[in-house]
Amino acid sequence: MRFEVDQWLRNLVPALYPPTCVLCGAPGEAGGLDLCRGCRADLPLNHHACPVCALSLPAATPAGSTCGACQHKKPPYDACIVPYRYEGVMPYLLTGLKFHARMSHARLLGGLLSGFLSVRESTLPQALIPVPLHRKRLSERGFNQALEIARIPAHDLGIPLALDKCERWRATSAHSGLDARARKRDIRGAFRLRCEPEYRHLVLLDDVITTGSTVAELARVFKRAGVARVDVWALARTPNPG
Ligand SMILES: [Zn+2]
Ligand SMILES: [Zn+2]
Repeated sequence: MRFEVDQWLRNLVPALYPPTCVLCGAPGEAGGLDLCRGCRADLPLNHHACPVCALSLPAATPAGSTCGACQHKKPPYDACIVPYRYEGVMPYLLTGLKFHARMSHARLLGGLLSGFLSVRESTLPQALIPVPLHRKRLSERGFNQALEIARIPAHDLGIPLALDKCERWRATSAHSGLDARARKRDIRGAFRLRCEPEYRHLVLLDDVITTGSTVAELARVFKRAGVARVDVWALARTPNPG
């Protein structure tokens, strides 16, 4: 009986609230995403990305080539999966969630990430860890945008969300005005573990990767504690790190 009621509700909700494109208001596409086919085709796919840091590389670069920076010095994480470049509508979708609490954007972004991962990733991690906010920033904003996005792939792909393993215990500056070197200095020592991580493979999830210094610092903390593989998933990568 319980199952029948669940199923009935699951059928009813899309009928009452049919998927609607958050960008243009047209009916959403099949699969339940709040995005129409035309707007989906306009999303800035991150083709030709460095497999380690996801930096967008020139179209002529041979597939699988790592960028100059990763060849020079390998980051502490193993690989980044970032389906889009931070341009076109991506700033609107990501800042709409972060600064205007548009949760419909989190559902859409999480759904896009799930779809991308389900065809690409054969080895799923043992845990998904949204990059934590400092508690002061969390109380100002009321939510962590990385967690709101992470809920969708965690549910769709069946990966446990781990929210109590680490914390951002030192507040950092707003990074938008800082160059790569200043960001790196500012984030150093910002995270700490709350307990020994019992994982071999985990994924850190953030909304946008700019210079990669935040995820690198958190990955370093987990690697030092013995986690063998730390990957990074995010929605968008800025084209040129500062
Ligand atoms: Zn649309
Ligand atoms: Zn790279």
